[in-house]
Amino acid sequence: MFWLNVDYPTWIWKLHVDSCRFCVPEETVNKGIDELKDHGAWMSFKSFDEAKKYFKENSKPNSIWQPCKVCNPE
Ligand SMILES: [Zn+2]
Repeated sequence: MFWLNVDYPTWIWKLHVDSCRFCVPEETVNKGIDELKDHGAWMSFKSFDEAKKYFKENSKPNSIWQPCKVCNPE
C-alpha cells in the first residue's frame, strides 16, 4: 500500500509506503483521507504506478512529485 500526501499549501505531493514512520494518514478539518479538502488529502494507492498516474492527471503545473527519501517507494 502506498500513501500520497497531497499538500496544496506547499505544492508537494509526497509518496510513502504505509510502513514509513513519516506516513501518518490522519483526517483533519482541512485534509481528508481519500477525499480532497482545502489543503489536500492523504490518498491511498495499491501501486507506485497508480499513484504516479494520479499525480500526472490531477496535479497543477506547479505541483512537485516527491517520493519520500526515507521509505523510498518504488
Ligand atoms: Zn516515507
